[in-house]
Amino acid sequence: MDTWDVVIAGAGLAGLALAAELAAPEFAHLRVLLIEPRKNYVRDRTWSYWALPNALPQQWQGLPTTQWPQWRVSLAERSVLSKSEVPYASVRADAFYDAALGMIAKAPHIQWLRETSIQQAESTAHGVEITTNAGQCISSKLLFDSRPPKPSQASDWVQHFVGWEVKVKSPCFESQCVELMAFEPHGSGLHFFYCLPYSRTQALVESTWISRAILQRDYEAELREALQQRWGCSDYAITFREKGALPLMPRPAAAQSHVVRIGRAGGKLRAATGYAFCASLQQTSSLAASLAKHFNEGKALIDWQAPPFKTSAMDQWMDSVLFRVLESDWQAAPQYFLSLFERVPELQLIRFLQGQANAQDRLAVMRALPAWPFMRAALR
Ligand SMILES: Cc1cc2nc3c(=O)[nH]c(=O)nc-3n(C[C@H](O)[C@H](O)[C@H](O)COP(=O)(O)OP(=O)(O)OC[C@H]3O[C@@H](n4cnc5c(N)ncnc54)[C@H](O)[C@@H]3O)c2cc1C
Repeated sequence: MDTWDVVIAGAGLAGLALAAELAAPEFAHLRVLLIEPRKNYVRDRTWSYWALPNALPQQWQGLPTTQWPQWRVSLAERSVLSKSEVPYASVRADAFYDAALGMIAKAPHIQWLRETSIQQAESTAHGVEITTNAGQCISSKLLFDSRPPKPSQASDWVQHFVGWEVKVKSPCFESQCVELMAFEPHGSGLHFFYCLPYSRTQALVESTWISRAILQRDYEAELREALQQRWGCSDYAITFREKGALPLMPRPAAAQSHVVRIGRAGGKLRAATGYAFCASLQQTSSLAASLAKHFNEGKALIDWQAPPFKTSAMDQWMDSVLFRVLESDWQAAPQYFLSLFERVPELQLIRFLQGQANAQDRLAVMRALPAWPFMRAALR
């Protein structure tokens, strides 16, 4: 059996970020194996977040970003424009992949199994035994598992979307302002368009749904219509496509000894936004820091315990109440978001949505929402 100190299951955002941290010379005594189904890395998504000063760990603060000083939420004629010193920022996945792969390539102690999936991972007294789709048996003292969670039930909340990056001939986008949520009320879920304008003639436009289970939607027809009706462009070239179906509140996998779950698998996706970028990078950075401290104290890998990475129970509870209110009347749901953006000061709302809220921020969010439907949902 092939034996390793550390196996990282899945080399997407969290797996690559952790491997890049472990590429540092202080971890050169570890044998690390990355197991990943994909063969090549291409741009497959775009990660956005609010660039709060501490949003990203130091290691990732140099990633190239596009930034916007304003964002808008709207419903028909009603719209709320927000401005803040904290910009909305966006990173192309290929920029992150290139940076992380570059760091990993310099570390001979990190090896790859590409085009390989893990089929099974079982804890033993001394580590984890892993079986791959190619029938390999691998043992490791520690497994960092980032295999994405699947919806645990058909009725789970899911955010599903398709995005096109388009280039148009005549300027039609407002380059300083992100369309965060341009709502189209619907009886079966929350539907909105999202637009990251890179310039007056280039933008990433997405049709996004939040619903119980994935609805059968013709996202492409929705995008075509929105480009025509909302932005007035019919003559465009699609230069990039992305899509996703993210379970928003997946049931946590059962705890296993010698297994640490990271990224979405580790519960790092914020249900209220579908965002996991900053939290995943924060988590992997804090795991690496904890390992480094452990080795500096002369301790062995087998004695290391992953530090608990705080996901606020209060935020989780507030998100679940929010979703129960939304689904009680999908048609009215956009109004709640407009109230939030209208009534909560920008910085407080950013901290709340990014999972960095303090008690006052949460109170401001609660005050901005109508008391009765939320109290009823909270009591359910
Ligand atoms: C299109 C898209 C856009 C998004 N936009 C944003 C955004 O703007 N902001 C934000 O914060 N979040 C966003 N997210 C959510 C979240 O940040 C991403 O999903 C992020 O990639 C999650 O990181 P992860 O490491 O948990 O999962 P992933 O990056 O998906 O990595 C999981 C890895 O596991 C691998 N894998 C799967 N099965 C196996 C197996 N059996 N064995 C081994 N490996 C396996 C996969 O190939 C993949 O490389 C977006 C998600 C998508 C899909």
